[in-house]
Amino acid sequence: MKKLALLIALVLFVLPFSALAEEAYNPIGDEYTVLVNHDYMLDKKYVPDDLVKVDVKFKDAKIELRKEAADALLQLFADAKEAGYNLIAASGYRSYSRQATIYYNKVKSMGKERAAKLSAPAGASEHQLGLAVDITCKANKQYLNANFAKTDEGKWVTEHCYDYGFILRYKQEWEDVTGYAYEPWHIRYVGMEHAANIKELDIPYEEYVELYLGTVTATEDDE
Ligand SMILES: [Zn+2]
Repeated sequence: MKKLALLIALVLFVLPFSALAEEAYNPIGDEYTVLVNHDYMLDKKYVPDDLVKVDVKFKDAKIELRKEAADALLQLFADAKEAGYNLIAASGYRSYSRQATIYYNKVKSMGKERAAKLSAPAGASEHQLGLAVDITCKANKQYLNANFAKTDEGKWVTEHCYDYGFILRYKQEWEDVTGYAYEPWHIRYVGMEHAANIKELDIPYEEYVELYLGTVTATEDDE
């Protein structure tokens, strides 16, 4: 409850003045490890400066990612294909305003509580970092849903994304920690070393950041 109260206070009082957001959530340079969730939101002005189009098979439109993540994804898709799995990229970088529109539509169609679990408010999406990708496949009719994990492509991604510096961000058993429902289709680039550590430890990224990167602020610590 305290956490919720803090979050509400953050949204109502802190974000409009955006002092915290500007200080903490404008990652710069080659910061591939920044934590983004409902508690740690990106400033609306944040746009990565090294976005590139990624030349992989896509669902609706060619996706963009930050350069290093784009190179890693190209290799991941190429190796998957060689192993017999045809992946389809559904979503990469999303701007703050695009996320705002998506979230607004979700809230309108399903109500705020459910929307918050299934979609991120503007600023709370890793897609704004240009480091997150949603992947699907033909066998899953190009849907982004839990069933993706049961397809051969989904199983391959689950097992191998770590080898390319990506992590599964929203596992089913981590919902209480991440604040998001199970999303086997969403992978996040953190770099090879951290990805290998996280695969080994099998813990949510929130915990990894707190334990090993030490960049969690007082908002979480005072519970
Ligand atoms: Zn996603």
